Amino acid sequence: MQKNAVIFNGPEKPFSLRAFPILPPAAGQAGLTLVSSGICGTDVHIHEGFLGIPDMPLILGHEFIGKIDALGDSKAMDGLGNPLAVGDTAIACVAIPCGKCFNCRRGETASCLSFGVTYVKSVEEPPHFHGGYGEYLFSPLQNLVRLPETVNPMAAAAFPCGGPTVIRAFEYGGGTHEGELVVVQGNGSVGLFALAWAKAHGCQVAVIGSAANAERLKLTQTLQPDRFFDFRKTAPDELRKAIAEMAVELGRGDGADTVIETSGSPQAFPLGLSLLRTRGRYLVPGQYSDRGPVSIEPHLITFRALQVIGSGQYTMQDLKTYVDFLAAHPELQPIFAQMLSKYSLKEADKAFADAKAGKTIKAVFC
Ligand SMILES: [Zn+2]
Ligand SMILES: [Zn+2]
Repeated sequence: MQKNAVIFNGPEKPFSLRAFPILPPAAGQAGLTLVSSGICGTDVHIHEGFLGIPDMPLILGHEFIGKIDALGDSKAMDGLGNPLAVGDTAIACVAIPCGKCFNCRRGETASCLSFGVTYVKSVEEPPHFHGGYGEYLFSPLQNLVRLPETVNPMAAAAFPCGGPTVIRAFEYGGGTHEGELVVVQGNGSVGLFALAWAKAHGCQVAVIGSAANAERLKLTQTLQPDRFFDFRKTAPDELRKAIAEMAVELGRGDGADTVIETSGSPQAFPLGLSLLRTRGRYLVPGQYSDRGPVSIEPHLITFRALQVIGSGQYTMQDLKTYVDFLAAHPELQPIFAQMLSKYSLKEADKAFADAKAGKTIKAVFC
């Protein structure tokens, strides 16, 4: 039997489709058939040439959800110790923390100093299906998180990377606290998850986002932000005033408790810094590629005793927290499932073009 995969041939080059035979999984591995495989901002950056990747034909994709087709071990367990059986659905994480470096030894595996990635292997190397953009994937068992029956895989497909990314940023920042005033900068997929997460934790949430795409705006509204500001139409001074007023009304000082930057725009940073209350925290998981410098007002950090917290990865535990969050919030699952724009593998060029143009919230192959 043969199945197809989408081959990445280098920055800005068209993708191609290739078929490979399905081999039995090696010990410690599982073979999964495609349920959904998302295009992340990172993949778009790779395709644009902003993130270096070794020069060889390979299969991108780190948001794969699949059905277990074959197991390399008779008693298989996922990365969190749950038993795995053929027919189960699982999310495959691609990160391989080294386990040995200074940060890994301290338990901070999300900030491993020498991360490996499962998909950075030539497609010529058996069993070929190393990355998520294929009808099949081979994944190390320790990189899988089983989905319970109560979680719709297509709901999980909305934020398999953005979700745990937000969860880790809040975790590094000290947790998510009920009653906080949270400002989310950006209403792309990471921002929408941050909105859903903060609302579900009993926070007041203001979103500063784009109203240019009517469908995106509608989906933002379904997650019920307390306030929405169109960043194109609201001046920074107006925003500062509105956020400070919200804080005063809540009796929580002179600005937001938490601002989370998900837009990826460098210009968002000085604004976000200025929206915080004294002792507020700025979570910055969204600046994923180097889009140049901006000038900031460092005196704000000193005199307002601000905390600025970066976070660029997540752990298997964060993926588990994401899955548990979905299971605990069945009301969010149909909303999340609605966020998908679905493509076949043959439509890879169009899917990437649409994702780049901001036409989709979450483009997935399925
Ligand atoms: Zn490490
Ligand atoms: Zn990602």
